[in-house]
Amino acid sequence: MHELSIAHSILSIAENAVPENSKAFVTSVGLQIGELSGIEIESLEFAFSVIKADTLLQNAELDIQIIKGEAECSECKTIFSLSSYGTCCPQCKSYSMKILNGREMRVLNIVVDE
Ligand SMILES: [Zn+2]
Repeated sequence: MHELSIAHSILSIAENAVPENSKAFVTSVGLQIGELSGIEIESLEFAFSVIKADTLLQNAELDIQIIKGEAECSECKTIFSLSSYGTCCPQCKSYSMKILNGREMRVLNIVVDE
């Protein structure tokens, strides 16, 4: 499952942010997830809740911001929002476009409680 491997990478990024031998716990991980990233938020939250047990993140919550999908039409250069692939340009109905935003998944911040 795609979301499980993403949850594992979030876990290891956050664990690396905590100094070794400290008693700190991670309380929150801020994420940005694009609408076009193909990541299912619910699946990701579920996968994360399963794998965080007995780790430094066992009490951590995911703080997820959704990044809206945005594309530029290759024909008429209109910039428009799209929430999924398979949407055409609202101006000229072209399907030829460059995706500007919405494919990303990044860890924004990691909150550690000492
Ligand atoms: Zn167009």
